[in-house]
Amino acid sequence: MKKVLIATFVATFLFWSCDTDNLESQIPQEEQQRVDLGVDPGELDRMAENTTGRQCHSMNVLSRQLQENPGMLQRMQNIESHTRVFEKKPDGVGNGNGGGEDPDPDPDTLGTITIPVYVHVLYSTSQENISSSQINSQIAVLNNDFRKSNSDANQVPSEFAGLAADSEVEFVLAGVTRKVSPNTSWGTNDAMKYAFNGGVDVITPETHLNIWVCNIGGGILGYAQFPGGSASTDGVVISPQYFGSQGYVSAPFDKGRTATHEVGHYLNLRHIWGDGRCKRDDFVSDTPSSDGPNYGCPSYPTVNCRTNDMTMNYMDYTDDACMYMFSEGQKIRMRALFGAGGVRESMLN
Ligand SMILES: [Zn+2]
Repeated sequence: MKKVLIATFVATFLFWSCDTDNLESQIPQEEQQRVDLGVDPGELDRMAENTTGRQCHSMNVLSRQLQENPGMLQRMQNIESHTRVFEKKPDGVGNGNGGGEDPDPDPDTLGTITIPVYVHVLYSTSQENISSSQINSQIAVLNNDFRKSNSDANQVPSEFAGLAADSEVEFVLAGVTRKVSPNTSWGTNDAMKYAFNGGVDVITPETHLNIWVCNIGGGILGYAQFPGGSASTDGVVISPQYFGSQGYVSAPFDKGRTATHEVGHYLNLRHIWGDGRCKRDDFVSDTPSSDGPNYGCPSYPTVNCRTNDMTMNYMDYTDDACMYMFSEGQKIRMRALFGAGGVRESMLN
């Protein structure tokens, strides 16, 4: 069964690879390298064995969406090619000074990126109808974490301190919708994103981050849709007890880091271990290889694949109190989406 699935995947992938579109034709041939952006089904099985630590279902949802949406893999491939160009030349216009090799990519000139956020609260109990102050606490956590103004940033061990990034991405609450529902758990099939299912339709995803706060069920904290997915389901879903840092929140996921992690996916970050064993990549050069997720609150150093894991990275599976950094490489990968021709460029005013 598995071999058949893989063969089908490869055949379909090759078929799509023959397609080209405008974005790809603008990208130099050497940048159109093919990387495996798909989901390893064995990894999903491995992740399913964890039932107590952090559970993010973004990769499960990606797997489903890739099967349902025939154009998505090609769009993701185009985004990946665009990202590779941006990582070398962030403005897409060359490196400026002329002579000499520049070992570091120039910082981009995008400045501070401000993302307006709609929060959709879907509730079946009064507790799930979270307060405005709980919502505001989440926006504050996002701003602190993405601007490296989080109070625990000083806990990053010296090995990684030079890599801890101020992503220069900020968030501002644009509006809140609230809707009562008989649904006590919504699952991960995007039902909450459609009014005809009792949910709330996405609002202007080309310019706004949409976050649905509703009970997912199954111990799942949240999930995000990766760039390249359908506009009608673009955004992040988080269960109310893991949203924000005050009010109806549940330890050890009560410091708002689930949203930081999921918005990381929304901005094209993969899990820090690359969703596979040592050789599988998260497409970020400055994050160490890892054999799998870390749970709870690991001590430093935690060695995997002969290097120390960056367990304090927001894209690992550690508890909220034990994750407190994005890396410089992750910052560039996220900001690539907003560069010229990037898939989230329209979010810039
Ligand atoms: Zn995740």
